[in-house]
Amino acid sequence: MMTKDNIILNNDGEPITSPRILAMIEARNKISDDLRFPPVTNKMTGLREPTPTQWLEKYFVFRTAVQEPTDEECKDYYQRINIDDADDINRFRGALLGTAIGDALGTTLEFKAPGTFDHINDIIGGGPFSLKAGEWTDDTSMMYCLAHSLVRKNGFDLKDQIDLYCRWWKDGVFSVNGKCFDIGNTVQDALSRYIRSGNPKSGDIDPMSAGNGSLMRLTPIPIAFYNSFEDAVSYGGLSSVTTHGTLEAVDACRYFSGLVWGALHGVSKEELLNGIYTPIKGYWEDNPLCTSITDIVNRAEYKTKKASEIRASGYVIYSLEAVLWAFWQTSDFEQGALAAVNLGEDADTTGAIFGQLAGAYYGERVLPFKWVKKVKQNHIFYLKAQELKELVLQSN
Ligand SMILES: [Mg+2]
Repeated sequence: MMTKDNIILNNDGEPITSPRILAMIEARNKISDDLRFPPVTNKMTGLREPTPTQWLEKYFVFRTAVQEPTDEECKDYYQRINIDDADDINRFRGALLGTAIGDALGTTLEFKAPGTFDHINDIIGGGPFSLKAGEWTDDTSMMYCLAHSLVRKNGFDLKDQIDLYCRWWKDGVFSVNGKCFDIGNTVQDALSRYIRSGNPKSGDIDPMSAGNGSLMRLTPIPIAFYNSFEDAVSYGGLSSVTTHGTLEAVDACRYFSGLVWGALHGVSKEELLNGIYTPIKGYWEDNPLCTSITDIVNRAEYKTKKASEIRASGYVIYSLEAVLWAFWQTSDFEQGALAAVNLGEDADTTGAIFGQLAGAYYGERVLPFKWVKKVKQNHIFYLKAQELKELVLQSN
């Protein structure tokens, strides 16, 4: 494409006049290269240097050829191609990919009331936004924005995080299809307030605004603060206040960040869900959580409830219980993710929150490859896991 006297010409040198195409070009030009998904390989780029995800081409051939390899077989393959096979990055990859998988799986059933739909057993797309199979929604876009900010700022920078959320909302940055098509009311109100005031702590503090919109994007925090449970918990809570400032939302993020942190460190499911998880004795007595969370976690009624007794609406306390229920009552990622999203209601977000925890717990090597393969832009989650691990190593 060429331009002449500010007129954009097509490949035949004729001016482009279609308003739709001109608007698309204008929108695209607003986004700098660092805010676009990088290519998987160097093939279409003309560059000689391989990209950091070049190896995925080989790895995906292996995963396609060897149906459901064991964890050990998969680890061996990583060693063979000389790619980081450590358990920490395996769990980082799992948590990030798990979010996208749960989101893409659940979008089909978003807003469906329980009892009004047939259960799904695969990623099929559709749903309220008519997505293609494997496309994901706001949950994963915001999670990716948070991961991107942690990496580019070398740590936690609240203003940079909310700036990226605004770019996603206004310009479609890090959206799966280049548009922000599904922003929630609580998030939109907070971002509008930020644009007016410049205060990154723009999340509503009204108790009626305790939605799950900050919990759904959380997982880059316990990854980035892999070396410190206390930092994972406190920054997990702080990451909420850009959009969700109310106590239940903040405390749900504190609790869940600690829980995912434990999963990333290979703690058993029994220990993770035996009361409120902490590796530091007395931590939660010194830094208490609100009672709506401690009630759910300590009473642990989710361990025996039936699906019909679990709600999966946008209320963060319900989302949390639904995720603990799906994680406890199943023994692999696939069964748990299906249980979570088949609750309906806020299915994509329940799926995304489940995927953070279960992806961290089970690890990338045993995630269902049929779903990894389907997730759009799957390479960006492998890339962010790598970049976040570099951040963790720097902080040692
Ligand atoms: Mg969503």
